[in-house]
Amino acid sequence: MKGRLHSIESFGAVDGPGIRTVFFMQGCPARCLYCHNPDSWGTDAGRDIEIDEILHWAERGRPYHGETGGVTFSGGEALIQGEFLIEAMKALKANGFKSAIDVSGTYVDEFTEEAIKTCDLILLDIKHTDPERFKIITGRDMDTLFEIIDMINKHDKHVWIRNVVVPDLNDTEEDMIALNDFIKQIKNIDKVELLAYHTMAVSKYGKLGITYRLKGVPPMDGERLQELRKLIEY
Ligand code: SF4
Repeated sequence: MKGRLHSIESFGAVDGPGIRTVFFMQGCPARCLYCHNPDSWGTDAGRDIEIDEILHWAERGRPYHGETGGVTFSGGEALIQGEFLIEAMKALKANGFKSAIDVSGTYVDEFTEEAIKTCDLILLDIKHTDPERFKIITGRDMDTLFEIIDMINKHDKHVWIRNVVVPDLNDTEEDMIALNDFIKQIKNIDKVELLAYHTMAVSKYGKLGITYRLKGVPPMDGERLQELRKLIEY
């Protein structure tokens, strides 16, 4: 079986616990306003990858993974390749690797539940807690996020919550209180990460000929983010 790969990060330190081998899978159904990987959207770009190569890169990372690290599948939206992810994670588990999936909450299909069941950790993006804003940010309906939360709870999966904070979009105290309330429905939260919106990807849009819709929005202020972080209970 083949997957479609965007790129590999051999020493990922921000996509789950410890040092991780991160596979950025190609393709995403969402079109988030602040996406920093617009080159990962199309399913026709990237290159093929087989399970053996996944194992090869994981093996290269093994000395650095330690007790807490492992493999993360990110994207794009890795779950659009759910069947491949299931096979890859089963092979990884058989070889002693722990797997995480970075989930945008914008996509579900017949393989999603099995993929969630098979992984060891979910990195769950909460794009927004309000359905209208969720749609404005992602271009997708929020139903899929609720379906995924149900699957996560059903299979007792541990979760890292991730929320990108964007000036004037979701950076108020009310937004943080809403986020706090929203994530109470998720059973096993190990960590909540507030990620500062940045503008480093803007030039990619120019090269791809795609309009950057948050033009003029400044990067999220670090001190303000620290203040907002205090409002999160986890
Ligand atoms: S889900 Fe992730 S990869 Fe897809 S558009 Fe949104 S930020 Fe980009």
